[in-house]
Amino acid sequence: GVRVRFAPSPTGFLHLGGLRTALYNYIFAKKHGGSFILRLEDTDQSRLVPGAAERIEDMLEWAGIPPDESPRKGGLFSAYQQSQRLGLYQEAAQTLVANGAAYHCFCSPQRLELLKKEALRNRQTPRYDNRCRHLSPGQVEEKLGQKQPHVLRFRLEEGVEPFQDMVYGWNRHEVATVEGDPVIIKADGFPTYHLANVVDDHHMQISHVLRGTEWLISTSKHLLMYRAFGWEAPTFAHLPLLLNRDGSKLSKRQGDIFIEHFALAGYLPEALLDIITNCGSGFTENRIGRTLDELIAEFDMTKITTHSALLDLEKLPEFNRIHLLRRISDADQRQALVKDLQVLIEREYKEQLTEKDVLRTQYIERALQLRKGHITCLQDLVSPAYSYLWVRPSVPRDQLLKVSPEVDTISKLVLELVENSVSTTEKLSAELKGLQKKTKGTKYGAIMKVIRLALSGQQQGPSVAEMIVSLGPREVSERLQRVLS
Ligand code: GLU
Repeated sequence: GVRVRFAPSPTGFLHLGGLRTALYNYIFAKKHGGSFILRLEDTDQSRLVPGAAERIEDMLEWAGIPPDESPRKGGLFSAYQQSQRLGLYQEAAQTLVANGAAYHCFCSPQRLELLKKEALRNRQTPRYDNRCRHLSPGQVEEKLGQKQPHVLRFRLEEGVEPFQDMVYGWNRHEVATVEGDPVIIKADGFPTYHLANVVDDHHMQISHVLRGTEWLISTSKHLLMYRAFGWEAPTFAHLPLLLNRDGSKLSKRQGDIFIEHFALAGYLPEALLDIITNCGSGFTENRIGRTLDELIAEFDMTKITTHSALLDLEKLPEFNRIHLLRRISDADQRQALVKDLQVLIEREYKEQLTEKDVLRTQYIERALQLRKGHITCLQDLVSPAYSYLWVRPSVPRDQLLKVSPEVDTISKLVLELVENSVSTTEKLSAELKGLQKKTKGTKYGAIMKVIRLALSGQQQGPSVAEMIVSLGPREVSERLQRVLS
């Protein structure tokens, strides 16, 4: 069956580029009824960021693309972090030494440094000169006996075979002519990326490797290793780069590329997934507002093109608005949003919440329904513009009188209106239009201004009819009574 993996190094938190790679893997797995595996490539101990591993998995869960097997979940091929599989890499490396595909290298860091300097002086790309390939078994024995520090290197053979990448087509990099033999086991006994990656993909029975295009040139090297082991290699599919809209690289210095940033700012995961896939290729068509299920249904690997995907984060609020509208329209998801909103309201308004009724499900749900399609994030509803929903405003009478001397008449008329039961916004706005005749020729605009101000303390916002429906007759009367007294 299909088994794919997302294999980040926990050297930082999950960003948009990583999420994109994870997402294509997830979609590919689910499309083919396969498994999606999270494997942490934490062999470079010096670059680990504490907590990153945990948070990467948290963020995949937040995004709605949880792995089937992972460090946290476990699975048949445990462990899922390379630092806990060191014995396996040692064993694999020894196999290569035994069959002549790898060798001990005792070159000192100083010698390697000299080689590098010399190359640079001659304007050449530095590369190891493979000197230790030529040590005799006796020399190796002797140095090992003296406990000389060493690494293991993989012998790069010439004559790599072409391979067919599912995205980039036929490829072949004659690595031996450009690179020195790569280190596979470092002096500290840890494997390097190339060895650990190949060994794990084999042992974890990975069928397809979907990863960033920056690894395309390493694939021939990996294939040489598969050949040396006598293992069948997975199929490769390299994904084009994800860039900023202006074509620049996503940089970790940009605050707005980390997934946690978007989660905290109140963006919905489906909006983020949608915007990531919308700028890329791999789908039968490009349309806004797709859910994960729709992405899976519309995914088509043959549609992935090789040109870079340009991310347009300015569109994110609009994507989020669409997905939020969609969630609010679904009864179950709406209930979950109500709960989230309760938390947000309590957090934002704490002691100011004198009227606990505003935390009732029914009240919050009505506000959500009325505002759907207008708000881009759930957080919008606890912003100052909507504070009137949760906290009674105090509006000085003078301020109201400045708008119209008919404040009392207007308030009484609206009180009458709501006493005769408030139905829908449409019906109510028709009734509000009728008030003009009863207020000694006060302009319609001024009437609305007075009511809006009295109910919300604000000059702008949703229509007055909507405000009234949203607050409900009881709360509207309370607020208008205060104006009169
Ligand atoms: N650990 C590598 C990375 O961080 C994984 C590359 C691969 O998928 O082979 O990108």
